Amino acid sequence: MTASAASEPMPAAFLGHGSPMNAIEANRYTAAWKAFGQAVPRPRAILVVSAHWFVNATAVTVMPRPRTIHDFYGFPQELFDVQYPAPGLPELLEEVSEAVKPTWVGADADSWGLDHGTWSVLVHAFPRADIPVVQISIDAGKPLDYHFELGTKLAALRHAGVLIVGSGNVVHNLRDLDWDRPDSGFAWAERFDDSVRLVMRDDPAGSLRLQSHRDFVLAVPTPDHFIPLLYLSGLAAASGESTDVLIDGYTYGAISMTAYTLGVTCPGAADGAGAAAALPQGVPPDATNL
Ligand code: ZN
Repeated sequence: MTASAASEPMPAAFLGHGSPMNAIEANRYTAAWKAFGQAVPRPRAILVVSAHWFVNATAVTVMPRPRTIHDFYGFPQELFDVQYPAPGLPELLEEVSEAVKPTWVGADADSWGLDHGTWSVLVHAFPRADIPVVQISIDAGKPLDYHFELGTKLAALRHAGVLIVGSGNVVHNLRDLDWDRPDSGFAWAERFDDSVRLVMRDDPAGSLRLQSHRDFVLAVPTPDHFIPLLYLSGLAAASGESTDVLIDGYTYGAISMTAYTLGVTCPGAADGAGAAAALPQGVPPDATNL
């Protein structure tokens, strides 16, 4: 890496992951994730905020070889067979702690690993699994502004070669899924998604205002899949940048697949085809841990 390249902040992203089956399928979303991985400079490490590590503390994984966690139900064996054997980077704990202090960051040496929010997108973006991956948990007990603030503080890591990726879904309502809409959204889902798009383009620092949107309660019935977006808006606010839509769309009416990038253009991101991966039949959607 040249000196001038080293001074460029690493890009960042929020990826809408949808069904875990996206890990083993090819569609327009997975094509966009791949284009993102190909467009960014090679990072020293990838720090992922996944909707699926939603616990009672802010912690980072510190194991040298994080396990691949298959944290879902009702999916085919082929998906349980997926491994993402990227190494960890235990020393990143110290850098994260330094960046976000005085917020305390725990070290997780043995409980978590890489959950499907992380590996279902990274298998496409970084298929070689040769870049260290660290997860940072979402503290479920904290209000939304805590997460936005943490995002602003993590901006320092962009100058240390760390690629920060949020993985969730802007709209994520498993109780209102419509099986007849495999590739479109309800009007309320589109309204909320459109408003998020405007905020992320024009004023990421104002993203907390989305809590008062008329459709917020339907779009974000639980905050786990929305919060990873606030880390990206915090990063964008910290540097005064706006974000770009990497790819957009809906699945089953009530899930937005929209993804955003910061600090990178991704040629070919819109060249893929096909709807987001399906859900298993016969398992209630809110029992899949989608
Ligand atoms: Zn999910």
